[in-house]
Amino acid sequence: MTLLDRLPTKVRLHRIELINDCHCVFCNAQLETREHLFLQCPMAEQLWNSVFFHSGLQFTITSWDDFFVWASSTWKGKSLLTSIMKLALNALIYFLWEERNKRIFKGCSRNVQELFLAIKDVVRFQLRDRKINRNDIANSSLCKHWDISCS
Ligand SMILES: [Zn+2]
Repeated sequence: MTLLDRLPTKVRLHRIELINDCHCVFCNAQLETREHLFLQCPMAEQLWNSVFFHSGLQFTITSWDDFFVWASSTWKGKSLLTSIMKLALNALIYFLWEERNKRIFKGCSRNVQELFLAIKDVVRFQLRDRKINRNDIANSSLCKHWDISCS
């Protein structure tokens, strides 16, 4: 059981009769389940694709179960890639949920590019003081793609 299992998605609120409209605020085409909102919605998918692409990886995850299997087998140690992926995917989930709430309760919205830039800012800010071995080609490429400054 993770925190995400308890999120009050529209489908869950509908189940307890708090709301009638269960559609996703991003695409308005599918029901807003956790799986849809954070993974399968085109909005989420584009963000995941961008995060993976900027890290030189290909996004192939289609379910939370897949995601946790993948994360627990690859997120080991303290490599720059692992740190970036952890920060970026935490930020992705945070900003998607924040964006969903802003659209529902405040009526304002940001597009995918703006959300991705917000994720990028978090990654860059969190890694600003990290000592990075830039002789490592993989690290230097990650710094370039994520705009992490050289120090
Ligand atoms: Zn959607």
